[in-house]
Amino acid sequence: MIEVENLIGGEYSTAAESFDDICPSDGSIIASIPRTMMVDDAVKAAENAQPGWGALSLEQRADWLDKIADALESQHRQLAELEALDTGKPLEVAMEVDISRSIENFRFFAEFSRNMPEEVFEMEDATNTVLRKPVGVVGLISPWNLPLYLLTWKVAPALLMGNTIIAKPSEITPLTAHRLGQILCEIGFPAGVVNIVHGYGPEIGQSLVEHPAVKAISFTGGTATGRLVARTAAPMFKKLSLELGGKNSSIILDDADLGLAVPGVVRAGFLNSGQICLCGSRILVHSSIYDEFLESFLAAVSELKIGPVISENHMTKVLSFIDLAVAEGGDIVAGGLRSEDDGFHIEATVITGLSHDSRTATEEIFGPVVTIHRFDSDAEAVEMANCTDYGLAGSVWSKNRGEELAKQIESGMVWVNTWLHRDLRVPFGGIKDSGVGREGGMWSLGFFSEAINICVKHNDLQARV
Ligand code: NAD
Repeated sequence: MIEVENLIGGEYSTAAESFDDICPSDGSIIASIPRTMMVDDAVKAAENAQPGWGALSLEQRADWLDKIADALESQHRQLAELEALDTGKPLEVAMEVDISRSIENFRFFAEFSRNMPEEVFEMEDATNTVLRKPVGVVGLISPWNLPLYLLTWKVAPALLMGNTIIAKPSEITPLTAHRLGQILCEIGFPAGVVNIVHGYGPEIGQSLVEHPAVKAISFTGGTATGRLVARTAAPMFKKLSLELGGKNSSIILDDADLGLAVPGVVRAGFLNSGQICLCGSRILVHSSIYDEFLESFLAAVSELKIGPVISENHMTKVLSFIDLAVAEGGDIVAGGLRSEDDGFHIEATVITGLSHDSRTATEEIFGPVVTIHRFDSDAEAVEMANCTDYGLAGSVWSKNRGEELAKQIESGMVWVNTWLHRDLRVPFGGIKDSGVGREGGMWSLGFFSEAINICVKHNDLQARV
């Protein structure tokens, strides 16, 4: 049994009350989590640490990011085991997806900063130089589906730009964030620069969002929660980044290479038990290849071994969507049931026969459930793909027309003949109800800094030279 503690100003602490962390694989209690209510101590620690951390050079902070990456790398397997325990995902997925990417997040931003171009804009009679100052104390709120991966995606750029941090990981999966805090202490990372507080979202999360000394909130989670966060933070003029839900389409055109498309669309539908915001849970297939696609797709799905969903509550929600699909007239052509195993397992589920604008096909389910729909023309595919309030991601599978079609999809990211193929320099984020702002490369560094322009008028001597 692990006792999760808060890390505030380099010291560990608990709270008056605690609650249980449940393992999704078998329903057992694996840790106790402090039910922290107020963020004030963490804010004070972060405020005290900010001038010292902000005074380091970019290069010194980049060196720290590399040291953190080295330390995480030396614990790669142990961290993956913790993540697998906490989320129920297979150890290989935790190793190859979650922890590898967490390490890469630190390495990437360290290296990126070393190649950052100077932002200087010459005029005939003056020189503009853009300075990037820290925002100050920033709040980072992250979800349970990729716990350390999505938290470090915020921690690394926030630290690099000289901010001090209060991180609020999901109360459902606190273990790797807790371990990250311990690792930072072990490598002598300056106290108070990273503070990690645990507890329920509406309590400690809300307290973090509404604290006036917290100057920016970077939030990844559900759209409904994002709306609440914005309601508090926007009138306080905080910098706000919202990475929210999705209902992404995988579009298979009539000229698709099905040898490539079928495994790609299966992966997009079911990786991490369908619990990735980018998952392609609505599959649109051209009528001329629909039967061939469906046969190969169902054969591939029948071979899948997937982990549980994250919690009993979430399992109930996903199963209720399967009931809704039946009520809306859908045919369950694979899965549809809770598995026999202990824990919160749901079979990989494929539903056909639904209208593309049904609730099942347009609302985020966030589980191992996909719907398949047929279309007759590229224009119809675009209209069907855009028929949701979300606008996060999507994929198009086509030998010749993928890029052209991708441009017409209303979402922040579209992959052509691939899915979740990530270059960390590119903008990542959604439009419509999928969020506000972008992460990645310069977009993250822009969010975690205040760009200040200094315009120096040339003196007469310079003007004559
Ligand atoms: P959630 O919104 O329930 O919780 C996210 C985080 O917000 C948690 O840490 C939670 O404690 C906290 N929180 C809850 N209420 C709060 C409040 N009132 N004030 C401040 N913080 C609060 O989301 P979840 O269930 O953990 O994650 C799943 C959702 O996240 C899905 O909708 C998924 O699509 C989305 N997601 C989006 C992205 C992206 O990059 N766009 C990535 C991963 C997950």
